[in-house]
Amino acid sequence: MNNIDNIQIVMVNTSHPGNIGAAARVMKNMYLHTLSLVDPVCYPHANATAMASGADDVLATANVYADLPSALHASHLVIATSARNRRLSIPCLTPQACAKKLYTEAQNGTVSLLFGRERTGLTNEELGYCHYLVEIPANPAYRSLNIASAIQIMSYEIMQVYLQAQDMAEQVKRENKEVLASGEDIERFYQHLEQVLIKIQFLYPERSPQLIRRLRRLFNRIHLEQNEVNILRGILTAIEKQ
Ligand code: SAH
Repeated sequence: MNNIDNIQIVMVNTSHPGNIGAAARVMKNMYLHTLSLVDPVCYPHANATAMASGADDVLATANVYADLPSALHASHLVIATSARNRRLSIPCLTPQACAKKLYTEAQNGTVSLLFGRERTGLTNEELGYCHYLVEIPANPAYRSLNIASAIQIMSYEIMQVYLQAQDMAEQVKRENKEVLASGEDIERFYQHLEQVLIKIQFLYPERSPQLIRRLRRLFNRIHLEQNEVNILRGILTAIEKQ
């Protein structure tokens, strides 16, 4: 499950080409590749390429649209970023909740995260296309981040959700591959362990009734696999032979 490319970063009417390049760079750093530019003021431009550094592929594949509706044509979820969560009755999300929603919905198709103009942000009309608003918490006396910095922070949050999902998928794959020991086999191992510990005079059940319980707790904590139980049983048998 890797539909992170369904997450589209949309920069609306960006003035400085350097900001577009910087955005491409931070996106690629965070595993994002889908960039759309709506009516960029100055693009393509050498400053965009220079600021993109090793992320020119993100620039090369960026879509350029004349207007916002064209950029959003395939999106079933649109979230706007804003330095002021002001006006309008659009529900507001934290950056973390926004990242989770985008990643989850990206499994079903294209989703968009919008960034506004450097000086004036997004217009009310543009916000009208959005289902949610997200504000990155910042100093109330100076909330407005550079657009590429805002993209960096949001991309980082999306990456966290993405990596967590990858990690969980890996874990499930691993767990499916390794056969955990059955309760019955583990019970037989505990009995075998107890017998051997008594035989080698390590355990005196009447003197230390806690010990076996403690050992059970220890082994239960690590979820023994079938072949690990076999190894432990083999060790116990070898001890008995001595
Ligand atoms: N005065 C403008 C600031 C524009 S900054 C405004 O109020 O929106 C350029 C863009 O960067 C913004 O449109 C937004 O997309 C993003 N941005 C800047 N600071 C942000 C913040 N604290 N939270 C969310 N997005 C922010």
